[in-house]
Amino acid sequence: MSRDTLVSLFCELVQIDSLSKHEAAFASVIKDKLAGLCLDTTDDGAGPYIGGDCGNLICRIPATADGFPVIMLNTHIDTVGDDTGIQPIVEDDEIHSASNTILGADAKAGITLILAALQALHDQDLPHGELVVVFTVAEEIELVGAQHLDYEMLQPLPQMAYVLDGGVTPGQMTTQAPYADKISFEVRGKAAHAGVEPEAGINAIQIAARAISEMKLGRLDEESTANIGTIRGGSATNIVPEVTTFNGEARSHQEEKLARQTRHMRQKVEEAAADAGAEAEITTERSYNGFALGPDDAVVQRGIAAAQQVGLQPSLHKGGGGSDANIFNEHGIPSVIIATGAHKPHTPEELLRIPSMLKCYEWLIAIITLQQ
Ligand SMILES: [Zn+2]
Repeated sequence: MSRDTLVSLFCELVQIDSLSKHEAAFASVIKDKLAGLCLDTTDDGAGPYIGGDCGNLICRIPATADGFPVIMLNTHIDTVGDDTGIQPIVEDDEIHSASNTILGADAKAGITLILAALQALHDQDLPHGELVVVFTVAEEIELVGAQHLDYEMLQPLPQMAYVLDGGVTPGQMTTQAPYADKISFEVRGKAAHAGVEPEAGINAIQIAARAISEMKLGRLDEESTANIGTIRGGSATNIVPEVTTFNGEARSHQEEKLARQTRHMRQKVEEAAADAGAEAEITTERSYNGFALGPDDAVVQRGIAAAQQVGLQPSLHKGGGGSDANIFNEHGIPSVIIATGAHKPHTPEELLRIPSMLKCYEWLIAIITLQQ
């Protein structure tokens, strides 16, 4: 597929809004494009369970030759935040947004690459094994699309998956990702008039402040992080605040370290509340489990061999975030994230490097067609 065709497909896709839980219009464009390749797409019905207008899309492409693994290709079809009306501008070797919005290369660069690869298989009659293409919804809102994916529909499970939701450097694979917990805190003190009888009150904001200031936060070590991200409390300056709620998260590539950090954050709040005679209610929830794949895993091996075949320097990368790959690995599909040429996602500076995208396209074709 030529540079111009890839660029114009990408520009077409980013101009169609696809906010999380509002992916239906965009999904129907994808379905039409696949139908143009004589491929049927099934909606797995996850939409109503996640409050969205559309479920995850699943499309099976039968093998045309023997001796290939069953490969799943995935990326998400929603874009982050609430930017709509995205207008791409092509300038030399880069595509960026015309205004102060994201570009949507996360993950429409990945969608472009998958659609273009399927087109090439179709047009050029390339030999390949069975492919399972899964376009997930609502990835940007805590991976809920992948969490509610109908995994029965993927049976027998694909032997490996490539998630096209990675970075800018062709050949780069994210083979490790952290475990994550989210933690919600509510501190309940006692309201009182701040001027008339402050001694009758218990200041929930002050308790929260003490607890948070005593927490280890930020980058804890090279594989663990923690954050308090929101806080809300009090109602007026003349009232000793009764309630303060705050929310945080912790991540680590080591599950034991995550457990230790989560316990530490809880303890600081429990201690500060107990010392002041207040109550603390704390809920912890696992956001996703981590994964760690290495050069011995078939999915990584194939990615490396395919990169080398097209003259790329393969590199394995440890990710700091969660993606649908975490959920697929949890469900027993060995999955890595591969680069697409997208840069600075989730910001108005987001851009797509066209030469990188072209190289990632060659890489993807090699991943699909490689005979080992
Ligand atoms: Zn993404």
